[in-house]
Amino acid sequence: MGKYWNEEIECMSREDMKKLQSERLVAQVRHVWDNVPYYRRLMEEKGVTPDDINGIEDLHKLPFLTKADLRDAYPYGLLAKPLADCVRIQSTSGTTGKRVVAFYTQHDIDLWDDCCARAITAAGGTREDVCQVCYGYGLFTGGPGLNGGSHKVGCLTLPMSSGNTERQIQFMRDLGSTILCCTPSYAAYIGETLHDMGYGPEDIKLKAGIFGAEPWTEEMRHEIERLLGIKAYDIYGLTEISGPGVSFECEEQTGMHINEDHFIAEIIDPNTGEVLPEGSKGELVFTSITKEAFPLLRYRTRDICVLTRKKCSCGRTLVKMSKPMGRSDDMLIIKGVNVFPSQIESVLLKMSKATPNYQIIVDRVNNTDTFEIRVELSDDMLSDTIKSIEDLEKKIAADIHSILGIRAKIRLVEPKSIPRSEGKAVRVIDKRKLV
Ligand code: ADP
Ligand code: ZN
Repeated sequence: MGKYWNEEIECMSREDMKKLQSERLVAQVRHVWDNVPYYRRLMEEKGVTPDDINGIEDLHKLPFLTKADLRDAYPYGLLAKPLADCVRIQSTSGTTGKRVVAFYTQHDIDLWDDCCARAITAAGGTREDVCQVCYGYGLFTGGPGLNGGSHKVGCLTLPMSSGNTERQIQFMRDLGSTILCCTPSYAAYIGETLHDMGYGPEDIKLKAGIFGAEPWTEEMRHEIERLLGIKAYDIYGLTEISGPGVSFECEEQTGMHINEDHFIAEIIDPNTGEVLPEGSKGELVFTSITKEAFPLLRYRTRDICVLTRKKCSCGRTLVKMSKPMGRSDDMLIIKGVNVFPSQIESVLLKMSKATPNYQIIVDRVNNTDTFEIRVELSDDMLSDTIKSIEDLEKKIAADIHSILGIRAKIRLVEPKSIPRSEGKAVRVIDKRKLV
């Protein structure tokens, strides 16, 4: 096996790729128009019909889709195939009652696996490798996605899921894992645990890691590479568009190649929606062009990044995206979970004794996110007993945990002690310096 999973596609000339994308876009728009009344209505409102879309040069005529649309249409409103043709759903970690669910036919799964196979191959993976997948399995796309890719490449696959770190390391040593797939925070944690157990990189066979699903820095990359003695590759994706493998890093490690034969990428101005020229920083928008069950046209990811077509030394011609440099909404990713400040506000609003004046403080200590919420007490709570204040803390902590699935440290503070702002409230203090 060579260095590419699909050389013809990954190294295709720009002209051929445009032609392929155009053909696929025309068919995908027709499929959506015929089968998704929700999007058809958006097109009609914009005065666009499938006849107006003859190639990628017409892409800008189509309306955008946002996460709000996905929630509106929950659960079946954007489904383009009969349920009987679907074989799987996955869902974002985004919680509350309004999860985003994505549907897949077997064909959709095959293409997704293929995207992940490209990522594994780009990280040097072959059928000789032992691939340990410690992304979470279940509704989260990380485990199932990389698992599928690993099978496709023919690696011996260890579907470990996350957690039980010492056992992870024992398996890694006993079975000679050569590739590790997980979030970068977990990779760093595995690295630290390896050293705590008295081992070093020389005691394991790992050579590469494929890490994504959350932002991470170059410093963190170097730290993981040092701790585990590997080359660490980035991988990007989102549930709505399939999952990990929408784009993947090659050995140059200067951005992620987007699988353009499946997803057309645009960069827009998040305020005006105007399409920006190559090299501009803006919001990343994806249009799927091969999906059956859950095709999304011009889906706004809210991730801010830059696209480049500079020649890559790996030989791939697929456009590259930078690491996401932030978001155009207020979503935070804490311990791998999507957190919107509004979710915390809604918990507090339900408590009569706490005020909705709060601040979220996020940091990263030893490569693990810390999550603290400071909440102001109401005036009448000040005279209460310590016990009832502790009870309130516990109640807030439990509600936050049940909504987000992760634990936050709750600190009740005196009334008026959280600084007021004259403009937008500063709800989030993110000390992680991820960009
Ligand atoms: P989940 O947390 O279940 O994966 P999503 O699929 O919605 O939920 O997560 C997708 C988001 O995760 C992306 O829009 C992006 O913000 C972030 N993300 C995914 N991969 C990366 C990566 N490699 N670097 C930075 N952010 C990433
Ligand atoms: Zn490359």
